[in-house]
Amino acid sequence: MAVIKIIKVPNPILKKKSKKISKIDKKVEQLAYNMADTIENYQTDVESGVAMAAVQVGQLVNLVVIKEEDGSYAALINPKITKLSGEEEEGLEGCLSVPGIYGIVKRKEKVEVKCVAIDGGKFLIKTSGLFSRILQHEIDHLNGILFTDRVDDLNKLYKLDKEGRLVSKKGDILDESELSKGY
Ligand SMILES: [Zn+2]
Repeated sequence: MAVIKIIKVPNPILKKKSKKISKIDKKVEQLAYNMADTIENYQTDVESGVAMAAVQVGQLVNLVVIKEEDGSYAALINPKITKLSGEEEEGLEGCLSVPGIYGIVKRKEKVEVKCVAIDGGKFLIKTSGLFSRILQHEIDHLNGILFTDRVDDLNKLYKLDKEGRLVSKKGDILDESELSKGY
């Protein structure tokens, strides 16, 4: 297992579409483990990683790795949104490929995603709230979309300062208690 270098903006690969994985071989397995290591390794005083798409380590394949609440990792192969529902909700997002920047993004509350597990088994995820937001963010990566593309107002972009506060261009400090947080 190994930590891989994370690709950051403005690298144009982040705007490319990833391809479907037709065979789950050793290479795919290894990539998934390495992505989990890379997420685990991404810890600063004020930030931590919870999920990543393969394009963020330079591989244009439909693979997402997510850290679950119990600390274990799940690999989602060829994840596809089959249903979006519920209210549009605003939530705070950041991205390992856009370090130090956060933005308020509108997303649907609930999502259904069909995907394949590392053992080849098919499954359907039905979820809402933060996990729904994370899934939508990661599946966007597979389509070459960054969260910053979805921020409709530049005043909803924030920079993380050294004290861990989120400050807008205008100098407003975001009161995070009003928002759910997603990475
Ligand atoms: Zn991201």
